[in-house]
Amino acid sequence: MSFAVYVKAELARIWPEKACCRQAELAGLVAFAGCLEEKENGPYLVLRTGQAAVARLLYRLLRAGLDVRPKVDTATHRYYLLAPLTPVLLEWLDGWPGLLDRNQRLSQRQLRRVGLGGSCCRRAFLRGAFLVAGSVSNPRAGYHLEISLPGAAWGYNLALLLLPFKLQPHLAERRGGTVLYFKDGEQVARFLNVIEAHAALLDFESARVYREVRNRVNRLVNCDTANLNRTVEASMRQVASICRLGNFINLAELPPGLREVAALRLQYPDATLRELGQMLKPRVGKAAVSYRLRRLEELAAQLAKERAGGAPL
Ligand SMILES: [Zn+2]
Repeated sequence: MSFAVYVKAELARIWPEKACCRQAELAGLVAFAGCLEEKENGPYLVLRTGQAAVARLLYRLLRAGLDVRPKVDTATHRYYLLAPLTPVLLEWLDGWPGLLDRNQRLSQRQLRRVGLGGSCCRRAFLRGAFLVAGSVSNPRAGYHLEISLPGAAWGYNLALLLLPFKLQPHLAERRGGTVLYFKDGEQVARFLNVIEAHAALLDFESARVYREVRNRVNRLVNCDTANLNRTVEASMRQVASICRLGNFINLAELPPGLREVAALRLQYPDATLRELGQMLKPRVGKAAVSYRLRRLEELAAQLAKERAGGAPL
């Protein structure tokens, strides 16, 4: 079972306690999976879903809320609910602006008027939308949750509904349609919480913690190895320069600051710059040690060049 199917199976088992939320969830389902179709014996509201549990939920919501008993058709892995347009259903559809008009942008005022001003109903509506148009990837593989929109205006409408939950979705054009998506682990988790997928959220979070700890450990290991390699390379270069310098001049004749650092570096090739600084009297910081070692390298390079050019000492 894919993670998305698992999440939806959990969501489809939720029966909203309040009538307002049942209406809102039905509205979310209809907005994202419904369309009007003319049949021989009149117009129908047709709803499609790929999951039996979702089809059952739709059936129950239609019957409990609007006293509609839809006909259920199944085709290969698809369920179709055909609800005759009774006066009650028609009136209900009319009460929800934008539900079947995919290009209508809704205002905050319209959302409040249909009852989507409250948090409980917003959650239910979003759950309905996710159940029929949503998908979420397994958190062990990556973080991605998306909802296919029935029309571009719904990108705007959903963003409006998500805003109070501090959810900021992205939009993308795909396969001729628009999808709204989250690809940040924190935002995906927040969305699962909003639609009340609590068991799925627990799974998601434990996978996320595991992944993040593993990534952090990998980062630390890589970082340590890289740092260590850099330190060793630099030290080898410094030791070589100091030895070369000793071939050209008597190291004892170097200015005291350079002479002491050169002696310590030769004695402690493994020491870090900070450790070398601590051994000096008086102690100096990492930056001062680094400066002096650079001076020694420059001096060695300069002398080698002069020698090669045959310049007098
Ligand atoms: Zn409610």
